[in-house]
Amino acid sequence: MSANPCIRLKRRPQGVPAVEDFSLSEADMPDSGVLCRSLYLSLDPYLRGRLSGRHLSGPIMPGDVMSSEAVLEVLEESERFKPGDTVRAQAPWQAEMRIPEASLTLVPVSIQPPSLALGVLGMPGLTAYAGVERYLKPQVGETLLVSAAAGPVGSTVAQLGKLAGARVVGLAGSEEKCGWLRGACQLDAVINYKHEQLREALERTCPQGINMYFDNVGGSVLAAAMERLALGARVVLCGLMAQYNEDSALAGPNPGLIIRARACVQGLVVYDHEDLRDKMRASLMDAIQEGCFQYREELSDGLESAPEAFCRLMRGENFGKTLVRVR
Ligand code: NAP
Repeated sequence: MSANPCIRLKRRPQGVPAVEDFSLSEADMPDSGVLCRSLYLSLDPYLRGRLSGRHLSGPIMPGDVMSSEAVLEVLEESERFKPGDTVRAQAPWQAEMRIPEASLTLVPVSIQPPSLALGVLGMPGLTAYAGVERYLKPQVGETLLVSAAAGPVGSTVAQLGKLAGARVVGLAGSEEKCGWLRGACQLDAVINYKHEQLREALERTCPQGINMYFDNVGGSVLAAAMERLALGARVVLCGLMAQYNEDSALAGPNPGLIIRARACVQGLVVYDHEDLRDKMRASLMDAIQEGCFQYREELSDGLESAPEAFCRLMRGENFGKTLVRVR
């Protein structure tokens, strides 16, 4: 065992990562930076994307020392820190390291145990809190469905939903997780999606539909949840556990593209917007009269031309609003 061991990526994992994809070796030590030692390393699903070179935070290449967010103990006096301080940083997976002082953030002593700064009081907690506060906005009595509900993100979302007065349904993949969600977290219903038929279980537990869905998984779980969305539902796409280990994209639109673009996807049905009709008309009429708005109509003449005009439309051969002029 070296004096300062580290973990390196040996080779890119194929599918689910294996222990053989990593190696224990000797750590390099930069000359500058504050000397720290590792207390806790944060292991998060997004690291899988870094190992494949396809995460927005950048790749980890074969031969590189693994790195992630970590809680460290400061070993040396510096301008802002003293020995014994607990700090958080992106850090290599090694026993001791030097980190630029500007990259260190003090973990308040009130955070006990300090590992919480990497979990529910850290990045996963912030992910959950942002999703609930900014996007789900739970209302009393609404139904919130959460996948990977027993994890740090999912269980925080679920409990914030409960605190806001929502009915919370959690999905988890083991009886132990389900029991914890039911008992300790007081969820209203829990589904072990590995043992139950998911669509039937969602029908039973979300009889009025799903008002909010927080998705940590993608794939077939996302597909089943989408089938039970209630009117005005809010969906947060957060994680892709079902596809991180896949080499090729799953069928259907890739929710990862929506996550990456922070896109807001809104279902629209025109019947809900009749109140805008006068405003729309006034605004577009002005633009047409001022000559700054273009439109096209494709007119066909005579009732008898209607079937062919409709077929042209459905073949995509129309150009402009398809109309039949009936004399
Ligand atoms: P976690 O819940 O501790 O771990 C992931 C869980 O996903 C597993 O324990 C497993 O629990 C579940 N899962 C469901 N389908 C799976 C599958 N096909 N393969 C493997 N696991 C599967 O993770 P977390 O840290 O709280 O993160 C949850 C999700 O949020 C992840 O997708 C993560 O990437 C995402 N995330 C996104 C952001 C962001 O900024 N968008 C930030 C943080 C985290 P079951 O036993 O219940 O299946």
